[in-house]
Amino acid sequence: MTTTAPTAGATATELPEITHWIDGARVSGASGRTAPVYDPALGVATKTVALASQEEIDRAIASAKAAFPKWRDLSITKRQQIMFRFRELVNERKDELAEILTAEHGKVISDSLGEIQRGLEVLELATGFPHLIKGEFSQQVSTGVDVYSTKSPLGVVGIISPFNFPVMVPMWFFPIAIAVGNTVVLKPSEKDPSSSIFLAELFKEAGLPDGVFTVLQGDKLAVDGLLNSPDVASISFVGSTPIAKYIYETAAKNGKRVQALGGAKNHMLVLPDADLDLVADSAINAGFGSAGERCMAISVLVAVGDVADKVVPMIKERMSKLVIGDGRRSCDMGPLVTEQHRDKVASYVDIAIADGADVVVDGRGIEVDGDKAGFWFGPTLIDRVPLTSRVYTEEIFGPVLSVVRVDTYEEGVELINSGAFGNGTAIFTNDGGAARRFQNEIEVGMIGINVPIPVPVAYYSFGGFKDSIFGDSKAYGMQGFHFFTREKAITSRWSDPSHGGINLGFPQA
Ligand code: NAD
Repeated sequence: MTTTAPTAGATATELPEITHWIDGARVSGASGRTAPVYDPALGVATKTVALASQEEIDRAIASAKAAFPKWRDLSITKRQQIMFRFRELVNERKDELAEILTAEHGKVISDSLGEIQRGLEVLELATGFPHLIKGEFSQQVSTGVDVYSTKSPLGVVGIISPFNFPVMVPMWFFPIAIAVGNTVVLKPSEKDPSSSIFLAELFKEAGLPDGVFTVLQGDKLAVDGLLNSPDVASISFVGSTPIAKYIYETAAKNGKRVQALGGAKNHMLVLPDADLDLVADSAINAGFGSAGERCMAISVLVAVGDVADKVVPMIKERMSKLVIGDGRRSCDMGPLVTEQHRDKVASYVDIAIADGADVVVDGRGIEVDGDKAGFWFGPTLIDRVPLTSRVYTEEIFGPVLSVVRVDTYEEGVELINSGAFGNGTAIFTNDGGAARRFQNEIEVGMIGINVPIPVPVAYYSFGGFKDSIFGDSKAYGMQGFHFFTREKAITSRWSDPSHGGINLGFPQA
């Protein structure tokens, strides 16, 4: 994450700059530090992104701090009207946003549109915020005394997002945070940062006052600036587990409210009575959609009994029909996000071979419908993966589906429960009793029953267990509203004019 020269034929100064968004305007970077932003399907740097200096970090936070009191005090009706207008604008402009997203991430356009839709769902939930942050009221708790509660915003809140969902993940947080009266500083991933600026512009057009939504581009320096600023009340982070741990520990040490969502290794348990056509289709969709760069991707199929012997050939046959290419063309799967990430994912095929696994389909060196220089790696299927292999124990975050074989349901559950992560899982069966038992016994935060990617809808909350989350609060849903507000309990007495007298005892009814 340092200044890097772009690829041949262009210099850093010739490439368009992705700026910060501060005080309701694009602000060019002044730090002298930039990072290249690639078009993964072309394999070339097409833009540079500014990387903030401490001075720029301070300016961004100061702008958000200055905007807070006025935004907090704006009437609920006016805030709600802005949220509605923003929702309309995102919906109207989603095709443009999908193009921007795909040009930096690589996922196919239909998948970008799907991501935007899931972000819109949280935005739609946020438009209903008045009902969701109502307080409580108790009359006459003591003679002449009433008690009531209000839900107040926190102040300036920081959001740090990963590359894999540059629209949806920020929208898990900022629509709710802003609707309830906070001001936001968003630090997007430096790999695909343009979508955030597009959203900031739409929010301004919707009537959002300057300073309420800030985009601070940067790397570790910007993240640490948010973590260490006394003016930032909370941190919402999504990314890999080692960074999530660091974020949680640093933010908590600094007295901040923090939710830090980490990595994953999601298992799909297949019982012998399952519909194997549904299993094969689901394994393909959940294993290779978005090139496996989803925290809810299925990366391990746990086959009970003789399931693997039947289903592995079915998956292999379906894989042969997948078209890999530039996400702007008609294809099923795009490239990986960077060359470095592609090479890391590809290295797991060598590890699998060395560990004695059976590489059924090898994604290296595939034919693609796109530019040869793109960061390509095809769908990969590895059977009989030893449980000690790094292919099984580590998050790969690419289109690599492992198959492991177990004899019984119990063995499968024990295997899943013994893993370090607990983000998502799924069971495939036609036995309702087994499914019911699974949802009770499995120690994972999001569970699918014949559903491979069980991302909860906006009015539930998103988050896993164990190394997949640090902090007490999941994203969006009611937990999102709790996270971005704090309760005040008010005890009030408006005395009857005749009332009076001194009483040093502890107040009682
Ligand atoms: P990442 O951890 O590399 O980066 C996430 C964010 O942290 C980025 O904004 C990045 O700039 C910042 N960052 C990177 N290194 C840092 C450092 N040393 N100090 C401080 N900040 C740093 O993750 P990524 O590669 O962008 O995203 C993929 C990861 O995110 C995967 O592990 C995936 O499972 C996870 N993820 C989890 C969820 C979830 O809900 N649990 C959702 C999406 C992605």
